[in-house]
Amino acid sequence: MEAAAEAGNLAGVQHIILVLSGKGGVGKSTISTELALALRHAGKKVGILDVDLCGPSIPRMLRAQGRAVHQCDGGWVPVYVDQEQSICLMSVGFLLENPDEAVVWRGPKKNALIKQFVSDVAWGQLDYLVVDTPPGTSDEHMATVDALRPYGPLGALVVTTPQAVSVGDVRRELTFCRKTGLRVLGVVENMSGFVCPHCAECTSVFSRGGGEELASHAGVPFLGSVPLDPELTKSLEEGRDFIREFPESPAFPALLSIAQKVLTEAPARVP
Ligand code: ADP
Repeated sequence: MEAAAEAGNLAGVQHIILVLSGKGGVGKSTISTELALALRHAGKKVGILDVDLCGPSIPRMLRAQGRAVHQCDGGWVPVYVDQEQSICLMSVGFLLENPDEAVVWRGPKKNALIKQFVSDVAWGQLDYLVVDTPPGTSDEHMATVDALRPYGPLGALVVTTPQAVSVGDVRRELTFCRKTGLRVLGVVENMSGFVCPHCAECTSVFSRGGGEELASHAGVPFLGSVPLDPELTKSLEEGRDFIREFPESPAFPALLSIAQKVLTEAPARVP
């Protein structure tokens, strides 16, 4: 009975994409959010599963924090972010009274929650499910990949900043993907240069190009460099739709091109 419900809840999801990073603060949730918005603007129906127990930030980024999660016969009903109901979200943040609570949970409780998350959300029909995973290669990270494996994820995006590359976090992440059989859709270099809003000159705050070099060394695709963009930070703070509202921003073409590459990777499945 339980197994049937599990298959049912993800049966209508065509493509699952995991977003990974070697460590926190590199922009994993940002890329997850903007990828979901870009896919949505490409006419796709998108869900986001925010399993980042260390800091579930996507509800804030989509101005959905504090929304109540309801139950239906199939499980939890995800929170719809837009009026057209083309983008929906389930986040561990919705289940916490205090956002700092998750960090003190112990392994087994975290892993049980992750399993439940994957099987108990009534997603309905989705073209893409973007999964924002916890950073690193921890137990809960492993639990997320294990729980999703039966549903045949399309692959993973690995997000890095140029300086994170140098300390080898990303290399570990790529090894993790190889060992768990998760296909790497590509590496994204985030915070790659800062475009000054006053003079439009690009300054390489953390150096540049490390992500591309690493991708080529590891033999995985490089999906693009997203510059540090104050308008993107502001848009995320205010829970706005960056893809719709800031087409002139320097980060916009980079984000769009990443989404485009994801779209071309995903074969249209015959219903
Ligand atoms: P992670 O999920 O890896 O912990 P976040 O996505 O939460 O990281 O990003 C950390 C902070 O950096 C957020 O406040 C976000 O708004 C900001 N940020 C991330 N990427 C960019 C970018 N390309 N330009 C501007 N701000 C960014």
